[in-house]
Amino acid sequence: MKYHRLGRTSLEVSTLGFGASPLGNVFGNTSLADDERAVATAIDLGINFFDVSPYYGLTLAEQRLGTAFANRRNQVILATKCGRYGLSKFDFSAKGIRSGFEASLARLKTDHVDLLQVHDVEFASTEQVIQETIPAMRELQMEGKTRFIGITGYPVKLLTRIAREVEVDTVLSYCRYNLMNTDMDDVLTPFTCEQNIGLINASPLLMGILTNRGAPEWHLASNEIKEAAKRATEVAVKHGIDISTLALQFSLAHPSVASTLIGMATAEEVKTNVLSAENALDLSLVSEVKKAIGEGFASTWPSGLPEHWD
Ligand code: NAD
Repeated sequence: MKYHRLGRTSLEVSTLGFGASPLGNVFGNTSLADDERAVATAIDLGINFFDVSPYYGLTLAEQRLGTAFANRRNQVILATKCGRYGLSKFDFSAKGIRSGFEASLARLKTDHVDLLQVHDVEFASTEQVIQETIPAMRELQMEGKTRFIGITGYPVKLLTRIAREVEVDTVLSYCRYNLMNTDMDDVLTPFTCEQNIGLINASPLLMGILTNRGAPEWHLASNEIKEAAKRATEVAVKHGIDISTLALQFSLAHPSVASTLIGMATAEEVKTNVLSAENALDLSLVSEVKKAIGEGFASTWPSGLPEHWD
């Protein structure tokens, strides 16, 4: 496993990070026993960066992750989030951030996290994030309850704008740097590099689209995107490689991303993905897959308040 410094924080995160949303049954039901094996296997294989949120499975993922760490909490770099608590349940107020985070700590069975992030800034007023949410998180940092703070979300221009206006330690962008879309690099990547802000890229499989199983029902991507993913899968199959392997390797090859977060719920997925991370990306296959994906259709979807859409 390789490790990268997360921006100007002191955290050395594994380049392959463990996304814990599947522990909340977000992609289908999992069992606690499977989750425990997945987490233990990940730690054994050198994955030290774990990302979760109270939103995933409406607190279930945090509960299960806290249990799955058992006595190994001190071996991992733990990130959770605040502000989003349901599909349409948000509270970005200072009071809500504090109470939401205290509940997260209890579920995670720890007295601090390494990174606390605002979850999905596109659902908040930017003014509130800058003037109320981030300052409340800095207070929690001063109290030793989180070591660093960051923001997460889908619209890359908004993430960049917020990080420009208020100091954050990390930015997590999802579904914006993968085999089908690389527009994270248009604005966000250059800015985070210039400022040495830790850049985390989530969802290299486009939240399940770049898998043989395909997208979960709740996915907001258009049929055009899903059809393009099927064409990509066919090319990968023809070359005897799993589309998920290629997609993960593509995201992992990004030179400026500190950690690529992939959602995992079984020890088998963990082992497969660690192996994929160790093998080189086939660039000529990437060109062929990209050709099959083609252009001329929107590769993003709306998320959050309309004024924040890219
Ligand atoms: P993803 O693209 O990582 O896909 C996850 C899905 O792929 C799951 O169903 C998983 O079981 C499956 N999978 C994993 N490895 C596989 C393999 N080798 N073969 C086939 N299937 C495989 O999507 P994600 O989980 O949404 O994103 C990763 C993590 O990033 C999340 O768990 C979460 O921690 C984080 N994230 C954060 C935000 C945010 O903060 N706003 C948004 C999205 C994701």
